[in-house]
Amino acid sequence: MNEKCVDSVVGDILAGWRYDISGLAPEMRGDYEAHFAACVRCRARQRLHRSIDISLIVLATISAGLFLLAFIVIRRYSPQHALLLEIVALGGFAFSALVWVIVAIVTPVPMVVLDAARTRARQLSDRLPPEIRDRLPDELKLK
Ligand SMILES: [Zn+2]
Repeated sequence: MNEKCVDSVVGDILAGWRYDISGLAPEMRGDYEAHFAACVRCRARQRLHRSIDISLIVLATISAGLFLLAFIVIRRYSPQHALLLEIVALGGFAFSALVWVIVAIVTPVPMVVLDAARTRARQLSDRLPPEIRDRLPDELKLK
């Protein structure tokens, strides 16, 4: 990342938002979208931050799943100190779920996932025969 930001004022604003403009009204986005188009550095940062967000939510999901699995295993085999272990497992599950919810609220992950799903659906609908495609909702059609 040796590239310099083409406009450090806009770059600093974007950095403060973790390069997420999905929360902005469409008419406010223009300048920032233009900046992303022009600025290699900010585009790379945006990609990096979104990968971090998605990794966080994937990790929280895996960790919640593992704690839940641990809880089920403890119930099944009821080892010594089962109650204590169950509490630890449930606590870990609750913590992972909390992290998951916080990441989903604070970061644009839901937007990114929705966007990816919409793009994919559009690509699929493009390959369908026209008589079926015509019955799909307009937003799935390739513009
Ligand atoms: Zn920039």
